[in-house]
Amino acid sequence: MNLKEKIADYPNFPKKGILFRDFSPVLKDPSALSHIADEFSKHFHPKDIDVFAGIESRGFILASILASRYNKGMVMIRKAGKLPGKTTKLAYTIEYGKDTIEIQKDIIKEGERVLICDDLLATGGTAKASAKLIEKVGGEIVGFAFIIELVDLNGIKGLNKYNCKSLVKY
Ligand code: AMP
Repeated sequence: MNLKEKIADYPNFPKKGILFRDFSPVLKDPSALSHIADEFSKHFHPKDIDVFAGIESRGFILASILASRYNKGMVMIRKAGKLPGKTTKLAYTIEYGKDTIEIQKDIIKEGERVLICDDLLATGGTAKASAKLIEKVGGEIVGFAFIIELVDLNGIKGLNKYNCKSLVKY
């Protein structure tokens, strides 16, 4: 299956100069959804994974698809202020300023092996911060799953110690 054909391009969204790669048509197509799970199944073995972590918000979708296929659970890495109860936070720098992500305290047990999921890898800032957060709460990173990778931005460089897999490259 050619997933690239199902990714829509929106120039200047959400702001001028950004070419937004939208995977909504992929989600609408049931055969594309099972194709995604098939492709990641070739790369990551179920025995190596305890739980999937989705990065807000489109990462939740990929993490849930894979968790269901692998018969595992998923946890949410969210922007600060959205998770109830006690949380562990991590602040990181973005293009213009700072952002904070968080995860519920104790949702990851010490030594649990986590596969982190997002729709798209751009500069890698979000993915790297997510790895730090998972490690901060005692998780072990199995790797990263992305549907799309923007190769020119070289986000993969900051993740080179991890096992990363993306399905569509631009
Ligand atoms: P980064 O931290 O730069 O790797 O940015 C990755 C996050 O921003 C992902 O969660 C993506 O959903 C979103 N993102 C960045 N660039 C794009 C783009 N061109 N199209 C769609 N989403 C993007």
